[in-house]
Amino acid sequence: MREDKYDADVDPSRCPLCGGDNRCAILQGAEIDSCWCRAAAIPRGLLERVPAERAGQACICAACVAAYHRETATGR
Ligand SMILES: [Zn+2]
Repeated sequence: MREDKYDADVDPSRCPLCGGDNRCAILQGAEIDSCWCRAAAIPRGLLERVPAERAGQACICAACVAAYHRETATGR
């Protein structure tokens, strides 16, 4: 019956926006330079959507970055 579990402990492997696997290279024991997020710049507008209490705790996932680009490209 507890709905606050997600907020209680932030999982660094989960996207703060959709809760999906962010596939961060660091969490898999690899270098930051091999992470997909180095190649795909995270849009500032997307970073601003991350709730303040979760900012800097977990990476945004590739799916949310792609969705954001689709959203902004569609324009009107
Ligand atoms: Zn996501």
